[in-house]
Amino acid sequence: MTHTAMSDTSKTDTIMSSRAEQLIAAVPTGVFIDGKWSGAASGKRCDVVNPATGETIASIADGGPEDARRAIEVAARTQASWGRTPPRVRSEILRRAYELVMQRQDDLAVIMTSEMGKPFAEARGEVAYAAEFFRWFSEEAVRIGGDATVSGDGKTRIIVTKAPVGPCVLVTPWNFPLAMGTRKIGPAIAAGCTMVFKPANLTPLTSFALVEILREAGLPDGVLNVVCTSDPGSVVEPWMSSGLARKVSFTGSTAVGVTLLEQAAEHVMRSSMELGGNAPFIVFADADLDLAVEGAMVAKLRNMGEACTAANRMFVHHSVAGEFANRLSDRMSALRVGDGLQEGTDIGPLVEPKALSKVEALVADAVRRGARVVCGGAAVPGAGYFYPPTVLADVDPASDLMSQEIFGPVAPIIPFESEAEVVALANDTPWGLVGYVFTKDVDRAFRMNEAIEVGMLGVNTGLVSNPAAPFGGIKSSGLGREGGRLGIEEFLDVRYLAMPRDVGA
Ligand code: NAP
Ligand code: MG
Repeated sequence: MTHTAMSDTSKTDTIMSSRAEQLIAAVPTGVFIDGKWSGAASGKRCDVVNPATGETIASIADGGPEDARRAIEVAARTQASWGRTPPRVRSEILRRAYELVMQRQDDLAVIMTSEMGKPFAEARGEVAYAAEFFRWFSEEAVRIGGDATVSGDGKTRIIVTKAPVGPCVLVTPWNFPLAMGTRKIGPAIAAGCTMVFKPANLTPLTSFALVEILREAGLPDGVLNVVCTSDPGSVVEPWMSSGLARKVSFTGSTAVGVTLLEQAAEHVMRSSMELGGNAPFIVFADADLDLAVEGAMVAKLRNMGEACTAANRMFVHHSVAGEFANRLSDRMSALRVGDGLQEGTDIGPLVEPKALSKVEALVADAVRRGARVVCGGAAVPGAGYFYPPTVLADVDPASDLMSQEIFGPVAPIIPFESEAEVVALANDTPWGLVGYVFTKDVDRAFRMNEAIEVGMLGVNTGLVSNPAAPFGGIKSSGLGREGGRLGIEEFLDVRYLAMPRDVGA
């Protein structure tokens, strides 16, 4: 593992950081309500920090209850006219936004890397993934269907139509600063819903840049209103209790999701929840080990392991566990840890000091219980919040990292003996977002699809995210699906019309 020192000022890196400064300086930093940027009502501001350096890179308006109230009132007032907009018009706004996001792929990636830390190449990848939600939902906007049928006795016409659910509360996390937003904003626009949106306070700039793109794409004033804050409850709670919002779509931790579900109960709001995960990654003895190691690199290291879909528990058949650990360790220790804006960086910093100390504590606990450190295993000293790719072998299933999201580049390997044993281990968690299985046995793959309690299963792949697929979990991992054919349904109400049918003559 090589660590690129922060003082490394090669020519390209200098160009990159001055470009980052220029791009960030051009991003608006207020609250965005009814098509206008302004300061927070309180006049307060808060800082945005680059996790690779620990330096403040921007200051943004720190919204509060007064801004929140103004935003939800505008969203409620705009709902009727926006809901009547022809689907083709909404579709074309999304299509233009897709084009603009792709035209500015590099600029958005620089902003994202600066505030969140992921390597520039990964940030570009996220921008493309995020843009695809706009393209997908621009295509869905004009395909909102219904149903017309006749009752069994022939006496009633049953006509089913869809209507926008109404003003939506959107709340997103910092780990995918653009895609978590477009995955909600895309279907809301397609369905004809207005929005109040609170992006994560750690990574607001990417969302603010997206607002400007949507404006340029022709989104009318008042449809999307954005308030960021250092005190999330002070903004989101007034939205939830207002009685004006009809839906909440949240991505983040299960604990906050549960709080929002409790708040949603008051006005019986439609709720979509993309919550935490604890993904099992299972390698059977018959697996193609090359494929399994490749899959593990993606499922573990995408986003430095800071993903709800990250492989959190790697169960490997005991006959191949040693070889798997060594091969994974060879691949992981060859990666370069450093500032994501510097060329050649594979692994960026964790998002904040708290994230780094959590990973350190989880590794220390596993080691105390007998885990063997194959590579990595200690934070990188110096500025920024860096933790290197780490492989832990012979992990005790009682370790804390088995029951918590690691959210870092740490791969714990737990050897197993039988299929029945590994299914029981995999399901021994309240979460059920995603799982990964590596096997050449087709029957076993289908058995796992039925046995592993998850909303998504990757077979011989470490990546399931796809705008055309229904993303989401079961158990404590959430409610509802984002993307795919189901994504827009979360933003539509069903209206059934009954009409008598003349059965005479
Ligand atoms: P988090 O603390 O739950 O934050 C998520 C969002 O909720 C942020 O915007 C946050 O604001 C806001 N929030 C925090 N407390 C709140 C409150 N009391 N009322 C209203 N909003 C509140 O989660 P995180 O640590 O940022 O993100 C990591 C989590 O997200 C992990 O559990 C991960 O698995 C999950 N995740 C899930 C998916 C999925 O699709 N299933 C995708 C990505 C991430 P602040 O920014 O101000 O804290
Ligand atoms: Mg948080």
